[in-house]
Amino acid sequence: MTEIIDGNAVAAEIRDGLGDAIATLKAEGVTPGLATVLMSDDPASETYVSMKQRDCEEVGIDGIHVELDPDAPAAELYDTVADLNDDDAVHGILVQMPLVDQVDTRRVLRSVAPEKDVDGFHPENVGRLVAGNARYKPCTPHGIQKLFEHYDVETEGAEAVVVGRSDIVGKPMANLLVQKAPFGNATTTVCHSRTADLAAHTREADIVVAAAGVPGFIDGSMLKAGATVIDVGINRVDADTEKGYELVGDVDYESAKEVAGKITPVPGGVGPMTRAMLLWNTVKAAGERAGVEVDLP
Ligand code: NAD
Repeated sequence: MTEIIDGNAVAAEIRDGLGDAIATLKAEGVTPGLATVLMSDDPASETYVSMKQRDCEEVGIDGIHVELDPDAPAAELYDTVADLNDDDAVHGILVQMPLVDQVDTRRVLRSVAPEKDVDGFHPENVGRLVAGNARYKPCTPHGIQKLFEHYDVETEGAEAVVVGRSDIVGKPMANLLVQKAPFGNATTTVCHSRTADLAAHTREADIVVAAAGVPGFIDGSMLKAGATVIDVGINRVDADTEKGYELVGDVDYESAKEVAGKITPVPGGVGPMTRAMLLWNTVKAAGERAGVEVDLP
């Protein structure tokens, strides 16, 4: 029987645990604060940011939202980040990507104070992750490690294939999987758009993490029986629904679930974990800044 990995349930458990950690912090007079910054008129980005703000409110994190005119000069964004770096009520800063063209994205990533970089994208934090001493693990791969933990997925000695090499999912996922650490120790292959024979790799894998952004392109015929299949993809495809589209993953769920041992659905798999781990990193940041020891779930 294929086990369906329920990201909503695990994320809810993590949020509960964070509630306790936040109560500990509040008892010490510290309220964790997360600033979100939006400089874009992309409706998807607007939705993501408002979801993150709602998540904060639900667990008791102070959400601070800054929305900049997408036509404003880049300096406005640089100044905003500098102000948030100096603001003691702000423990985490998230600048929603992608940014408008006039902004130098690398400059923005470098300008967020590393201790407030709860996305884990600052070069210092990327370096620390690679060196096995992460300050903040990027939210999506961190959430996937939590799914491994909750569903007893053995990574040690496993053949893992990560499909996709982006800075936010593929690369940090692969880095975590190879580390000599819990939920690491996997023999890890990274596949990408230039991989010659993707199926030859995925068919040998005990764990497949699909993060390519190509709807349904990994099907059951490309998987080893019993494999754990983690579908990161969130792709809009035209559909006969009220909105005119539906969200699907990178994995062809119907055929894959016939072969996989464990599989994440889309939606309800990795997505809720990414959101929960942003809160997790923010609570960690607040605890460390205040020097209060908190028990993180
Ligand atoms: P990206 O576009 O930055 O990177 C995609 C990667 O996939 C690239 O490295 C590319 O080389 C590789 N790729 C593209 N086509 C391929 C193919 N045919 N075969 C093999 N590799 C291929 O994307 P991203 O930001 O990493 O996101 C990937 C997907 O995950 C998207 O659908 C995105 O919406 C989704 N996503 C979901 C979450 C979540 O929380 N569930 C978080 C982040 C991203």
